[in-house]
Amino acid sequence: MYNPKSLLADEFIDHQEILDTLAYADANKDNKELIESLLEKARPRWINGQLNCTGLTHREASVLLACEDPALNEKMFKLAEEIKKAFYGNRIVLFAPLYLSNYCINGCVYCPYHSINKNIPRKKLNQEEVKRQVIALQDMGHKRLALEAGEDPFHNPIEYILECIKTIYSIKHKNGAIRRVNVNIAATTVENYRKLKEAGIGTYILFQETYHKESYLKLHPFGPKHDYNYHTEAMDRAMEGGIDDVGLGVLFGLELYRYEFAGLLMHAEHLEAVHGVGPHTISVPRIKKADDIDPSVFDNGISDDIFAKLIALIRISVPYTGMIISTRESQEVRARALHLGISQISGASRTSVGGYDEPERPHDTEQFDVSDQRTLDEVIAWLMDMGFIPSFCTACYRAGRTGDRFMSLCKTGQIQNCCHPNALMTLKEFLVDYASEQTRKKGDAMIAREIPTIPNEKVRSALVKYLERIEGGERDFRF
Ligand code: SAM
Repeated sequence: MYNPKSLLADEFIDHQEILDTLAYADANKDNKELIESLLEKARPRWINGQLNCTGLTHREASVLLACEDPALNEKMFKLAEEIKKAFYGNRIVLFAPLYLSNYCINGCVYCPYHSINKNIPRKKLNQEEVKRQVIALQDMGHKRLALEAGEDPFHNPIEYILECIKTIYSIKHKNGAIRRVNVNIAATTVENYRKLKEAGIGTYILFQETYHKESYLKLHPFGPKHDYNYHTEAMDRAMEGGIDDVGLGVLFGLELYRYEFAGLLMHAEHLEAVHGVGPHTISVPRIKKADDIDPSVFDNGISDDIFAKLIALIRISVPYTGMIISTRESQEVRARALHLGISQISGASRTSVGGYDEPERPHDTEQFDVSDQRTLDEVIAWLMDMGFIPSFCTACYRAGRTGDRFMSLCKTGQIQNCCHPNALMTLKEFLVDYASEQTRKKGDAMIAREIPTIPNEKVRSALVKYLERIEGGERDFRF
């Protein structure tokens, strides 16, 4: 039976509740009055000096998803953009994935790292190699990484992951430093999550892949990941281990998107109900071609339009949650998604184990094909051409503003006096240290345009001084 406060996966992602939700959504998909009232409810409002957005429940949001009326859908897109601007402004945070190891004992049928695949060489970075990758990433300008690894207790035990994190944080090279390491590794124990927290990770990310239990069991035919309940309850263990920034996601294409959407929102509601804070981020990966994987065998692929609508509705339903899109998606799809709700993107990613220090993109150990293959400098210039401020900011995490403390910054609208200048300072660092001449010109012009938009005068004048000091060679200021 459905119970968002339960710690049992079968109760907080209750299958029958999802089926009932979909039936309710179908019954109301032409109910214009209800849909208009939901859009009104979800609109951002200032109440007693606080920017408030109620979000929508999985039931309410599912009605919007089922609606096929073009005019109403257009209103949904507009509202998503309004919420995005209200909470996240025009900043986009950048990161890169770093694949540590493709050893894996699982059987995930959509992932080329599955253990039966004998086509791909198995590889695991040693600490010297980690160092070379990180220096290559720092030389591009990256400050945030997402660590990725297959699940293999022999080759990739927690001690190996912890050692890599330690190595990464210790590398100081020219002006570069990785300031935040997020981790995307298989579901693990409370004790291991505690160790990850102690190692100083930012967000713990784990994709659910699918919330449909029966499909999940078939898609993960063997290995530890076969255990649906253990996987689905991972975020509760992570929070018990002290990690309060967790990142959710489903792999769109595996199951019916309407089912996944309801499940994803139920998961967010569950985290809020039990831990008092929802997910820090939601990722929206879509299945891609990979070594022995043909995405067309999964017949639940979604069009770019449905994908955009899902992004918009996640933005409307969980307004305080960051949203991530990776280089699985093309430049065009990413551009649209940025307006609708995405707040973080990866740039210049390589999904091979290692490979950042090689001039050509290696394909032999790649996890999936990368659609957006531009350099980081090109991505930065492109963001600025669209009016977005590229940000390498990691201030909240380093100042201990995680979990609900970050949310309160969001709610009081202080983002404009805090995140905005921090973003501009990290952009300035990028421009001085790594950018091409052309990108630098664009960036300096953008910073000059953005300074006057900071409401607090003291912050504004402090920022101008910090920017001068960055130009003079100092680094790592933050508000
Ligand atoms: N091994 C960890 C686990 O099992 O959760 C996480 C790391 S895995 C390298 C990261 C994610 O890549 C998976 O959670 C899955 O959603 C995604 N992925 C796997 N195969 C993919 C494919 N063919 N196309 C797109 N994404 C894929």
